[in-house]
Amino acid sequence: MYDYLLIGHGIAGAVLARELRGRGHRVLVYDEPRPDTASRVAAGLMNPVAGKRFALTWRAQETLPYAVAYYEALNQEFNEDFFQNSPILKVFGSEEEQRQMLARAAADPWQGFVEKIETAPIVRPGLLAPHGGAWLRGGGHLRVEALLAALAAEGRPAGWLREETFSWEALVSDGTGVAYPPGQVRARHVVCCQGAGALAGPHFGWLPLTPNQGAVLDVAVPGLSAAQVLNRGAYVVPGGREGQFRVGATYRWPPFPDNPGPADQRELAGRLAALTALPFGVVGERRGVRPAVRDRRPLLGRHPALSWLSLFGGFGSKGVSLAPRLAAQLADYFDGGGALWPDADLARYYSLYIAK
Ligand SMILES: Cc1cc2nc3c(=O)[nH]c(=O)nc-3n(C[C@H](O)[C@H](O)[C@H](O)COP(=O)(O)OP(=O)(O)OC[C@H]3O[C@@H](n4cnc5c(N)ncnc54)[C@H](O)[C@@H]3O)c2cc1C
Repeated sequence: MYDYLLIGHGIAGAVLARELRGRGHRVLVYDEPRPDTASRVAAGLMNPVAGKRFALTWRAQETLPYAVAYYEALNQEFNEDFFQNSPILKVFGSEEEQRQMLARAAADPWQGFVEKIETAPIVRPGLLAPHGGAWLRGGGHLRVEALLAALAAEGRPAGWLREETFSWEALVSDGTGVAYPPGQVRARHVVCCQGAGALAGPHFGWLPLTPNQGAVLDVAVPGLSAAQVLNRGAYVVPGGREGQFRVGATYRWPPFPDNPGPADQRELAGRLAALTALPFGVVGERRGVRPAVRDRRPLLGRHPALSWLSLFGGFGSKGVSLAPRLAAQLADYFDGGGALWPDADLARYYSLYIAK
């Protein structure tokens, strides 16, 4: 008898599985090993500041330091460099942006994430930053695909990960838990960590979860400084190998076009060209679907009618920075030791649920 059956081993399922296993629970994870999941294509950026208005991201102080410590511990455990706490240079596009940032940076709690603001042109190999920029700290970037592969390489032989498609139709529930397929695997609780795939299942279609398609480009820019992440319109994340970077990302709501590649390439290449005057070549393109939520907050917690079922998802474009802290919170909640943040608890949408 398992304590938890998790469906999905993207960043959400992987981090939650680790949290629950670390607390001594018996966990079994099902994951369909597709190359194009949001987690596998993500650039892995953890950015404390989002958008042109330099807004601090949601609950940055509660989630980001936690995520940094979490991924640094994984680096140590695997003796790898999955996570890099590189500075992020938010390049100003104009003097007006520069003024806005200076005004914002003076206010707490924002300033904890600002290392330095430069108003003069910034000179770095290959960089175009005539209006200066803000150096942000407290974030970084994670090689998500590599981390998931390392975790899966442990989970397969240990037996806690099965790389199979989970079929909700074969799940049978009774008063004490679930059986899947009936008679073979039994568990007390099931957690859906399917990302945007949760919409295709039978139990969470009533939530305001919307698929959002995004693409990143892998580019070679010989000579461009890799000492920082660049951010202006797009982000440019060092790719691990000399001269390689990942540029992201596009955002597209349904209906998705049949051939988004050329438009995505044009958009991202144009944004990269605004950050560097160096010639670059596109070496790859990755595309996935984010699990976005109407109010741009994650979704975690119990199903309103099925006590054996929970969801851990709705991470939109922020899964890397949010998953560790929220996995710990959900595990506390399961263990009876804590409440969920009301603005992340899926109970905020219970009124949308109509029992079948
Ligand atoms: C182009 C792009 C760039 C991004 N860049 C960033 C970034 O820089 N920083 C950041 O924080 N976020 C980024 N994101 C967002 C980030 O990828 C998501 O927030 C996060 O990956 C969501 O994780 P998840 O585990 O909830 O979902 P997913 O990654 O979609 O994982 C769900 C898993 O469930 C599995 N699954 C689904 N159905 C089944 C089934 N029936 N049976 C078995 N397994 C199943 C899937 O195969 C998958 O492995 C980006 C997204 C995209 C698309």
